[in-house]
Order: sequence, then structure tokens, then C-alpha cells
Amino acid sequence: MGVSVAYHLARLGMQNIVLLEREQLLGAGSTGKCAGGARLQFSSESNIRLSLESIDILERFEDELGQSIDFRQDGYMFLLSEASTLDTFRKNFELQQRLGVPVEWLDVDEACRRAPGITRENLRAATFCGRDGIADPNSVTMGFAKAAQQLGVTIEREVEVTGIGLDADRITEIQTSAGPIETRIVVNAAGPWSHQIGQMVATNIPVQPFRRHIFIADVPLDPKGLALEARTSPSTRILTIDFDTTFYFHRESTGILFGMGDPDEPSSFEQSVNWDLLERIAPVAARRLPVLADAGISTAWAGLYEMTPDAMPIIGPVPERPGFFIISGFSGHGFQHSPAAGRILADIITDRSPGEIDLAPFAFDRFARGNGVREGNVV
Ligand SMILES: Cc1cc2nc3c(=O)[nH]c(=O)nc-3n(C[C@H](O)[C@H](O)[C@H](O)COP(=O)(O)OP(=O)(O)OC[C@H]3O[C@@H](n4cnc5c(N)ncnc54)[C@H](O)[C@@H]3O)c2cc1C
Repeated sequence: MGVSVAYHLARLGMQNIVLLEREQLLGAGSTGKCAGGARLQFSSESNIRLSLESIDILERFEDELGQSIDFRQDGYMFLLSEASTLDTFRKNFELQQRLGVPVEWLDVDEACRRAPGITRENLRAATFCGRDGIADPNSVTMGFAKAAQQLGVTIEREVEVTGIGLDADRITEIQTSAGPIETRIVVNAAGPWSHQIGQMVATNIPVQPFRRHIFIADVPLDPKGLALEARTSPSTRILTIDFDTTFYFHRESTGILFGMGDPDEPSSFEQSVNWDLLERIAPVAARRLPVLADAGISTAWAGLYEMTPDAMPIIGPVPERPGFFIISGFSGHGFQHSPAAGRILADIITDRSPGEIDLAPFAFDRFARGNGVREGNVV
């Protein structure tokens, strides 16, 4: 988010932009832990619109920013089992089609054909969108960062924000581990840590961190030594999500990357791998993709989702703190929405119209007003 908004601001001609990152490397927060998925299949109009613009930008990224991002549009497929899920997805499907998303409704035979190796157990239907896909988060981060630097943005790594100076309610400076910087505008793009930055200006930002895991399995080789046998798992990187269990997987090189949400996980900054979770995922995974029953785990890691109460992001100003802007709380979708979100916030900061997108669902004050729109397709 930080590099995207810096890039978009610089493109609009803003000068004296400084991006501060406390870690040694950019992307060492949530972005470096993420699966790189980008999809149009959301339940809220606002998120679908963010995705339409973001995927457009990801498709043109290499041409426009000169950085290849390995964006493979092999599609996302949602597997639907419960009758109530089917009803909800019917409505999502109609909304997505109305907004121009090339989404397809599949019967069970077709779903099994597109993701070889999955079982039919409990399945009623599936949805598929071939423009959805997976890109490399590090390349997107570096692409925005390098393009921003070429436009004059200064990027300071290993510099921590420690405080924000106010005169009455107005921003005057940012205090850092390398000394103060005078400024009238601060953008809080601290992801899971954005609540802490909010506290520096006595603003309660309802973004909470939740640990999420990714596991990579080695799948057994077939007798000819081929890495993946086409009948036991997909040979493409189609991202398959068993919506009612939240188990998801896609091919990753010669292995399979998979994960699943954990409703019992409390909010924390814990990022160590909880191996007990694997014991709970294993039977669900093996039921849907039996090749995983015999697979060993080669790698696992955990990172943080930055959740808001309605699973929608906050993009925009904090009215009672002139000069303080938030771009955070993407609730598990911040990699894919960073291109459009950065563009929108840059327009807001520079007093331009952000286009036809409705900003109300992203407004900070929706929590106080209690009129948010909830995103239902959170995995
Ligand atoms: C396991 C996992 C899988 C995911 N999969 C996907 C996916 O497939 N698709 C998708 O779109 N999203 C996915 N996400 C979500 C995505 O990673 C996040 O939404 C996104 O990375 C948020 O980006 P950000 O820039 O807001 O936060 P971050 O990448 O966390 O960046 C915030 C930065 O702020 C820095 N910072 C914090 N405090 C300070 C301070 N005081 N001073 C200076 N710097 C500071 C941090 O070091 C950090 O680098 C996934 C997340 C996880 C954990």
C-alpha cells in the first residue's frame, strides 16, 4: 500500500514524498507473506470495482512500470457445498456479471474437470473466473517502489515512525528513529500495525491483526518421475477454494500450496507456525484433494491479516485529524487491491475526483455511523 500510494502521488506531480519502512527490506510485513492471489469474485460491489481496476493495472504492469510480475491468470474456482452458500453465490454471480466480470457457473462435472484430483464429496456447484490469478507480491512491491523512486520519491528503510506531532488537531511533523520530518500530510499504510500509528494521533483505527498460515506440500512423484501427475492435482495454477471449509490450494512449482482459515485464532501479532493447525487442516484437505493425504510438508509460514469489523478496507481521510489519511484494513485482500487503492487515495489527497467508485464503504467514519457494507467472500 505504501509504495502504491507513493507512486500514484508522484505520478500526479506531488513532491517531497518520503516513504518510511522500519524493516531492512520493503514487503517484510504482510505483503511478503501473502499468496499473491488477485480475483474479481467478491460479494460487494466496492471490492469488485477495486479488483476490476487493480487487475487492469496488474495486466499492464510490466509494460507501464517495466517490472515483470509473473501474473498467471489460470483462474480462481470457488467450490460450493451448502445450500445457503449456493444462494449467496447466485447473488454474487449476478452482481459480478452485471459489473462485467467474466464469471462462469459450473456444474460438479465441469468443476472436477478444471481442477483434476478434487473429490465430488458434498459439492453442488462452483464458480470460476479466468481473469483471476496469481502474481508475485515482491515484484509488484519492487515495481511500484522503483517507479516511485524514478519520479523522485525518497524511500528510507530501517527508519521507524515513533510519533506524530500535532498543533491542535492538525499534523505538523512525523517523529522517527532517525529524527523528525516536518509535514502536513501523513499516510498510515502500516497494514496490521496501523492501529498503533492511529494511537499516535489519538485515533482509534479498528484494524486487528490475525495470524494466517500457508503450507507447501511435496506431492508424490509418479513412477516416471514427473513432478505432478495430471490426474491427482491440477497442472495449472488454478486457485481452488472450498468455500464452506475455507480450505484452498494451488500448484506451486512442483508442490501444492494450501491454507485454511482458523475461526478460533485470537487477534495477535504472533507469526510463528502453529503446527497443531496442520492436524486440523489435514483431514479437510485430504477429503477434497486426496493426493495431499500422502504428501509431506516442505515449507510453512505465517503472516498477519489486517482485519476490520466489516472486512472492508479504510481508504481516505480521518475528518477530525486534517492531514491524516489511512490506507489499511484490507482484510486479506491488500496485495491485489493495492494498485487501485493507491490510485484512489492519491486522488483524494490531491483533491481530485476518484472517478465513479463509491467511497462510502471505505470511509473511516462508517464505523461511528454504523452503516458499513460487509464483504462476504473472505477466505
Ligand atoms: C498468509 C497470507 C496470505 C495472503 N494472501 C493474500 C492473497 O492471496 N491476495 C491478497 O490480495 N492478499 C493476501 N494477503 C493479505 C495481504 O498480504 C495484505 O492485505 C497486504 O499485504 C497488506 O499490505 P500493506 O502494505 O497494507 O501491509 P504490509 O505489507 O504489512 O506493510 C506495512 C508495512 O509497515 C511497516 N511498519 C509498521 N509499523 C511501522 C512503523 N512504526 N514505522 C515504519 N514502518 C512501519 C511494516 O514493517 C510493513 O512493512 C495474505 C496475507 C497473509 C498473511
